[in-house]
Amino acid sequence: MKIRIGVGSIVVACCIALFAAGCKKGGEQQTGHLQVVTTLFPLYDFARTIGGDKAQVTMLLPPGVEPHTFEPRPEDMIRISRANLFIYTNKYMEPWVDKIITGIDNKSLRVVNAGERVKYRPGGNDDTHEHAHGQISSMNNNHEHDAKGMDPHIWLDFANAALMVDTILDGFVAADPANGGFYRQNAETLKTRLAALDDKYRKTLASCSTRMILHGGHYTFGYLAHRYGLEYHALSGISSDSEPSAERMASLVREIRSSGAKYLFAEELLSPRLTETLAQEAGVGVLMLHGAHNLSREDMSRNVTFFDLMDRNLKQLQKGLQCRAR
Ligand SMILES: [Zn+2]
Repeated sequence: MKIRIGVGSIVVACCIALFAAGCKKGGEQQTGHLQVVTTLFPLYDFARTIGGDKAQVTMLLPPGVEPHTFEPRPEDMIRISRANLFIYTNKYMEPWVDKIITGIDNKSLRVVNAGERVKYRPGGNDDTHEHAHGQISSMNNNHEHDAKGMDPHIWLDFANAALMVDTILDGFVAADPANGGFYRQNAETLKTRLAALDDKYRKTLASCSTRMILHGGHYTFGYLAHRYGLEYHALSGISSDSEPSAERMASLVREIRSSGAKYLFAEELLSPRLTETLAQEAGVGVLMLHGAHNLSREDMSRNVTFFDLMDRNLKQLQKGLQCRAR
């Protein structure tokens, strides 16, 4: 209900803003570049690679902003309404998209659901496919499935990421067929890199002392764990605004102790204090795993890429799960 009211008032505010701006419609082509607006960081990074110097790609999420509770502001609506392409992740990640799009009067705007080719998985710790300790961690999140649906973090399975690249490419080619060959070539290069990344993960994670990712954050790495045959236990549900209960915190500490793990993984969206407290309680170290939803201001200014983040993650996983390099 909160979201519905929020989006409704944004639509009204935007109509006023657009009216004040002279109701500018259609893609802003003055620069000669395709105007592309994306929501999350992986889409932004893939789109800017595909678009190269033929597109101007921007990200809706300001650096460091929490993505699951993000709602577009009136100025974001204006940016979307002036674009040629608007690319979002999926309805589980950005449930506000349908409502926003109906409020935009730009018939030439192409809306790309980057996750439309992906096979979705349920998220949350009550997904018993990933682990053998379901009875410990299934005490929360049952309601979250009903409310929020499937796991939105599809980009953390690199085969899914390649499908997202295909879908984003289709959007580019449809919006700007004259440069189709250029976009296709860039997408191919990107998919080759994703395949190499997948291969590196598979080899590195093949022989580890423990196959359990214990994560003091929200349920982010379900797809990654599933792809490489790892177990995954997160502190909270598939949205980073879900509050872990005291019982869940205590049960995670028990899981860490009984697993013999040496590290608890922390997430980039939370203050590290809670993870550090839990790790201290369980007597283990803390390592950061980045979900790549968004970049910090610092990473953005250093032009960090999706591949940089995934390389960092693999190093952390290799250390945390004690995998032998091959
Ligand atoms: Zn998330």
